[in-house]
Amino acid sequence: MYSLPELEAVRTFDAIGVLTSGGDAPAMNAAIRAVVRTALNIGIKVYGIHRGYSGLITDDMRRMSSSSVSNIIQRGGTILKSDRCEAFKEAPTRRRAAEILKQNGIQALVAIGGDGTLTGAHLFTEESGIPVVGLPGSIDNDIYGTDDSIGFDTAVNTAIGAIDRIRDTALSHERLFLVEVMGRNSGFIATQVGIACGAEMILIPEHPTVVESIGYTLVSNRKAGRGSSGIIVVAEGPEPGLTGRLADQLRFFGEEARVCILGHIQRGGSPTGHDRVLASCMGITAVNYLLADYSDIMIGSDGRQLMPVPLQDVIKYRKHDPRLYKIALQLHK
Ligand code: ADP
Repeated sequence: MYSLPELEAVRTFDAIGVLTSGGDAPAMNAAIRAVVRTALNIGIKVYGIHRGYSGLITDDMRRMSSSSVSNIIQRGGTILKSDRCEAFKEAPTRRRAAEILKQNGIQALVAIGGDGTLTGAHLFTEESGIPVVGLPGSIDNDIYGTDDSIGFDTAVNTAIGAIDRIRDTALSHERLFLVEVMGRNSGFIATQVGIACGAEMILIPEHPTVVESIGYTLVSNRKAGRGSSGIIVVAEGPEPGLTGRLADQLRFFGEEARVCILGHIQRGGSPTGHDRVLASCMGITAVNYLLADYSDIMIGSDGRQLMPVPLQDVIKYRKHDPRLYKIALQLHK
């Protein structure tokens, strides 16, 4: 059960907008639904802005009704569509977007997305004065100021399901598998998945490991009779092809590893119960903070407590939490 802040509503709006931007994440729909229903229930009109910031600058938005968000809570992706909009990085484009919102009578915005989306949200509200509250929508869970993000739990569980199947083959054929999961700059998915799958090793960008060390560990484990099969979970890292190169290098140590790249299957699919509840609570809280006259914040989670985090901090600091990786190390052979 999440604890939602008790807030006093000190203002209201005729209409607010909601958008999803950047990489899509499961349970974005649950967040949209919560924003729409919370606002409509207190008489505020809601506009769904299509394709993230692209829809904001092309005036692609439509009025949402309570029934327009029926039957979406179980669906992956985002009914509002998402996009990457390079033009929004330019101040004149953001000025145009503010004009379009004003023309439509939209007085505040809820932006759901990752680091990039939240950066755009911060600049937009700072320059235009239009109140904005952000929600962390990211399968990577790499956003500063929140220990959880919308879609992370689903992505982790999808990867766990896939790796459990791969392990059957690894055991039957006594093979080593390098399984690549998402995470360009962060190993949150890899660490969580690696612990949950009982991985032999977890390789993440925050703790670069030299290939020799991996090779020697595997070889000495084999010599000690500790398993002839195994799963190594590898975060994809910033450069494409990392896992394939690692498999090539491991041949020098006599290790024939199979590579399996989970890729986009981690992004889609029906959200877990955890993500649906998190996204619903965050959506309600976003509207409540707008009514309490807050802006330029993201709704973050600290355990079970939802709280406001200044967007300035969200985009300035890098999330780093070594606790789970330390736990993982204690479980390695
Ligand atoms: P995510 O939100 O998942 O991190 P991106 O990094 O692609 O995904 O960002 C999504 C969108 O947010 C971009 O396409 C752009 O419209 C906006 N955005 C990203 N960075 C900035 C920035 N520095 N200034 C303004 N807008 C930005």
